[in-house]
Amino acid sequence: MSDIKRNIEAVRSNLKEDVLLVAVTKTHSPDEINEAIDCGVTDIGENKVQEILDKYDKVKPVRWHMIGHLQTNKVKYIIDKVVLIHSVDSLKLAKEINKRAAAAGKIMDILIQVNAAHEESKWGIDPALTGDLIGEILENCPNVRIKGLMSVAPYSDDPDEIRPYFAEVRKLYDKYGAMENEMVDFEYLSMGMTHDYITAMEEGSNLVRVGTAIFGARVY
Ligand SMILES: *Cc1c(COP(=O)(O)O)cnc(C)c1O
Repeated sequence: MSDIKRNIEAVRSNLKEDVLLVAVTKTHSPDEINEAIDCGVTDIGENKVQEILDKYDKVKPVRWHMIGHLQTNKVKYIIDKVVLIHSVDSLKLAKEINKRAAAAGKIMDILIQVNAAHEESKWGIDPALTGDLIGEILENCPNVRIKGLMSVAPYSDDPDEIRPYFAEVRKLYDKYGAMENEMVDFEYLSMGMTHDYITAMEEGSNLVRVGTAIFGARVY
């Protein structure tokens, strides 16, 4: 059995039912990605627009997720390629997505990225501003549908250090997911990477973004 196949089976064996595995393919080749798809991976995540464009035609049919910071001037390149943008953290970005989605005649699904630990080095909005941003998007962006929340926890090997951040985002997810609006249609709580996806899942994540545990260490 190949490493990728064995790794995917190992990750899957740790996942609860109904948790979506998004295989994070950044820096990895179309061949590696296609191998993962052959092993049943249905969803892949990239954090750079350029990598999506470079690989798009070389990869078998699969659902592409944009999981990294997205500059407004690059939205147009991926609007017809990805099924979900995980990293919306400003009205400016949401408006650009709205504009491009409208031009393409579609509704774009997004997640709001929350910076639960208030880390300066990380993208995402202050958790306290989540409700405001959702309200502004509803008012200004009729072609954007908010499907949930995404968060990246601080790096730590100690689950008890990061658990509270996941729990805080989970609370926001429950709160805003209860809104009665057809454009706030929560389905995904995107939390957890290779080193912390088990903890994230224990705190309610239903979408994990796993790269290293599937493809091995990245070489940049
Ligand atoms: C790279 C990346 C991941 C996956 O990280 P691993 O530690 O390799 O599992 C998950 N989420 C985001 C936003 C990333 O950029």
